[in-house]
Formats: sequence, structure tokens, C-alpha cells
Amino acid sequence: MLVFTHPACLAHDTGPGHAERPERLVAVTDALRDAFPDVLDWRESPRATRDQLARAHAPALLQCVLDSTPTQRVMLDPDTALSPDSAEAALRAAGAAIAAVDAVLASPGTRAFCAVRPPGHHATTDTAMGFCLFNSVAVAALHALEAHGLARVAIADFDVHHGNGTQAIFEHDPRVLFVGSHQMPLYPGTGAESETGVGNIINAPLPPDSGSEAFRAAWETRLLPAIDAFAPQLLLVSAGFDAHARDPLAQLRLSADDYGWLTQRLVGLANRHAGGRIVSMLEGGYDLAALRESSVAHVAALKA
Ligand SMILES: [Zn+2]
Repeated sequence: MLVFTHPACLAHDTGPGHAERPERLVAVTDALRDAFPDVLDWRESPRATRDQLARAHAPALLQCVLDSTPTQRVMLDPDTALSPDSAEAALRAAGAAIAAVDAVLASPGTRAFCAVRPPGHHATTDTAMGFCLFNSVAVAALHALEAHGLARVAIADFDVHHGNGTQAIFEHDPRVLFVGSHQMPLYPGTGAESETGVGNIINAPLPPDSGSEAFRAAWETRLLPAIDAFAPQLLLVSAGFDAHARDPLAQLRLSADDYGWLTQRLVGLANRHAGGRIVSMLEGGYDLAALRESSVAHVAALKA
């Protein structure tokens, strides 16, 4: 079980009082080191290249994040900061995704978790938004398709917010299945069941206070069977832990056990179709205790 991370991800400075703060990543990596001493293979992530990012993103977004070299923090929208060290963090976050795909495709049965920030699933082709600069999971999927020649990649997104950027990047691309559960109504406002792409998008919106039972039912009856039918050669996960009951930004009321349950089911599908190969990317999650216990439950199931 590989874990990719990089200290540069801590230097992305979103400003005082911002929910998407460096302490999130420290909480996750400390919890994993404490829970799984000696059993995780820790790797420092490389930088993604401009060409790897350009598979998912327009030149204008690459220029904005990589070439504007701000001397102080600027806000790209009311939520999304670009600080002097953000470009390096975003390159290492997307680079973790690339390196993790390369590693799991090189060796069947391998799984990888990328403990990185900024998160990615809200970033569209041309817009950084919702704390996200580059869409790392989309960069990973396109790397698997275009550099490794895979034909079918599935992305499972259980962050409490809809992965609008991932959906937008792939809604016309039948090589990718995107399935996800999220709270609705909630930021960013997309993710209705009626949004189906070219038949490759499956959204399971859940009302506030849904809790564990409704969450598990959505995955059991709709989302997991869709992955099973698609038979992906690689399974990617947008692992946001902000549906946890303690999270301050949402009200879906899950527990760490729910993340362990779902991850076990995803591992089962990866074993059936994808040679066991999973790459999971940290997305959201804004309560530090919830992040610790949820990431431990997720990785415990991934490494099994
Ligand atoms: Zn989120």
C-alpha cells in the first residue's frame, strides 16, 4: 500500500480562518503513521508536468496557477486562494496522482492513497474553484487513458460536495464513468440525478441529515452496481471526508465506519475488474478529528 505526499502541499496558504488549511493534511498523515507503523510505503510525490496537466486543463488555467507567481495571496474566487507557494503544492498534488497511477499500473494488486492538498474535484477545465486549483483525479484518469492506453477508468467520489469539475471534464467522454454521492442542496449546486453525461455520469444527491443508512443504500443500489457493470480497468477515488457527522461545512452525518464500509466495497469491485488497482485522492474534510478517524478507516480497507 503506497502513500504519496509532499511537504510542499503544506505551504499552500489559504489565509487565516480558511477551512482548507495545512493542519488538515498534518492530521491525515500523522493519523496514518500512528495507525499503520511500518506497513505503509511512503513516497514523495513528483511534480506533474505541464503536458500532463494540459490533458485536463485549458492553457489559461495553467497560466493563472503556474505563471502568475503572486508575491502575496490572491483570491481567485471568494473560496479559492492562490498564494506564492500554491503552484508548487498544486503540481505536487497532481504529481502524486500521476505517480500513483504509474505505480499501481506497474504492479497488479497495488493500491495507493494520495495525501495531498489543495483538493481537486471542483476544478473544471478552465476554472479553479471551491478550494481546488487543478483537478488531480481527472489528471490521473487522463494519464491512465492516454499514457497507459487504458480503455475504461471509473471515478468514485464520496466527498459531501458534488464533484462538478470532474463531471464537467468527463461528461462527453465515455471512457470514464463518474459516480458520486453528495449532499444537496449544498455547494456547488450541481449533481442532480438528471445530469447523466453520455450515460457515464451517475449522481446520487442526498438531503441534509440523510445519515449512514441512506448513504449506504445509494451506493448499494445505484452507484456500486454501475461501477460493476462498467468493469473499469482502474478505479480512482475522490476521497473527501466532509460527509462525516463532525464536519462543519455539511450535514450528511456519516461515521468513519461508513467510509470503511464503502472502501471495502470499492476494493471488492477493483479486485473483480481492475486487478485490485485503486488510486485514492484526498479531497475535502474540515474537522481534524473526523479526518483522522476517517482516513484511517479508508486506508485500513484499502490496504486489506
Ligand atoms: Zn467537499
